[in-house]
Amino acid sequence: MKLTQLSASLAAVLFSSVLAAQPSDDKVIFLTFDDGPINATSALVDALTEADIKATFFINAFHMYGEGDENEDMAAAAMRKVFDAGHVVANHSYDHMLHNCTDGVRSGAEYCNEVGLWPVKSYQNVESDYEFFALNTEKLLALIPDAELYPNFKMRTMARLPYTNGWRVTSVMKGDGLCATSDTVPPWDPAFNCTPATSTNSSQVAIQITDKLAANDYKVYGWDFDWGPENWGVAFPAETMADGVAMVANMESVINQCNATVMNPLNSRTPNLDCSDGIAHNKVVILTHDFLFEDGPRGQGATINLPKLKAFAEQARAAGYRFDTMDNYAPAWQATTVYELGEFVSYQDKIYSVLQAHTSQANWQPTATPALWTLEK
Ligand SMILES: [Zn+2]
Repeated sequence: MKLTQLSASLAAVLFSSVLAAQPSDDKVIFLTFDDGPINATSALVDALTEADIKATFFINAFHMYGEGDENEDMAAAAMRKVFDAGHVVANHSYDHMLHNCTDGVRSGAEYCNEVGLWPVKSYQNVESDYEFFALNTEKLLALIPDAELYPNFKMRTMARLPYTNGWRVTSVMKGDGLCATSDTVPPWDPAFNCTPATSTNSSQVAIQITDKLAANDYKVYGWDFDWGPENWGVAFPAETMADGVAMVANMESVINQCNATVMNPLNSRTPNLDCSDGIAHNKVVILTHDFLFEDGPRGQGATINLPKLKAFAEQARAAGYRFDTMDNYAPAWQATTVYELGEFVSYQDKIYSVLQAHTSQANWQPTATPALWTLEK
């Protein structure tokens, strides 16, 4: 062996021990389930295990107390199962803001389902509505006291607002969900007239709550598109969800598109989301709901959609996607890794951006190297 060949192979060995932080062709799906846990969550977790997917659940703990007007008497057991299976558990407020769905006498899920005015006056008071996020954590811990010991417990650091496609991720990547909730008629009423310039009081309160969450060390995540019924107006809407082929086409149309006009009609309501800092590159956040995977009043959601979920996973992987959880929206910081300007990492539930290109060492954690990393707020 010639000396040059030896050095070449030595270089190859050395090079291979330094990891590339983020392969640019690595397309990532963040599959997120809102509004659980309910009884159906249990079979959903089994299906996710079978499909080898780790997902993120934005939960409302009021189901665990039988206050959500769903099939939920086994919700607490389902919640435990979500933790045990390693899915990330994040905060969607205790009661989905349904305390604000009221006629002055009655309020809450049962009343709101009766009158069907969920997104009307959903947000009313910044201070008191904000408290429903802390309450969510408190009530979850009252029933599952050791939940905090799970590394996938993110109730105090990751949130999504009910109804509202708001984002607070980095100093640049921020967006507000506008016009998702109204002050008078429901948003689907033809009389509802809302533009970003004439946003509703409820939306404005939601924006202030989003800011308050961010100021209190939460990352707030919206979504890129909603995997929901094609038609809510039929008897069994859960049976009208897009299949894997359509889902892959949807993802291809939204990936790396941060402009809401391009993303329409895929249910984006974040007109001012700025993705110019690159953290969103090659990522798709899919919103769906536990209750769409239930055999119940919305149709044969479990029978039809659990197999659909499995097929979607296969088709997405065949199209070059992998699945991850939202705490890895910025990938976890690693030692012995090349970091270039413009890259982001997560470390101890915070996001940092590269100040100076470098190859990381074991003791160069972002918290210990302010010359290399800056905290994103
Ligand atoms: Zn929700």
